[in-house]
Amino acid sequence: MPDCLFCKIRDGLIPARVVYRDELCVAFEDINPQAPTHVLFIPTKHIATVNDITAEDREAVGHLFIAAAKVAKERGHADNGYRVVMNTQRDAGQTVFHIHLHLLAGRPLMWPPG
Ligand code: C5P
Repeated sequence: MPDCLFCKIRDGLIPARVVYRDELCVAFEDINPQAPTHVLFIPTKHIATVNDITAEDREAVGHLFIAAAKVAKERGHADNGYRVVMNTQRDAGQTVFHIHLHLLAGRPLMWPPG
């Protein structure tokens, strides 16, 4: 998607601190971290919102959780815990319309988030 910020990060056209990449996803450090670990996991395929996920995206979307759990474990968060969250549309505060799974960890996380 030509005007998509995260497609540009995926393609290396905009710099980002990429921490993981495979055929289905790319993960990079959030530019404005809200916790000691704040990594975003995006599918390689452009999908605008959770509303746009289809059955054929099952593997790609499920894979985001596997990649997030792998990075969380590598960073020592598996036991203390972490949060994975995908904001959808305005009321949830979605600002970039290429789905991204936030991995937040490294401090106690409030619930509900607000
Ligand atoms: O869920 P939401 O759409 O609000 O999340 C977008 C996230 O993308 C924000 O946490 C923001 O800090 C991050 N971001 C980024 N790099 C950019 C632009 C936004 O990490 N160049």
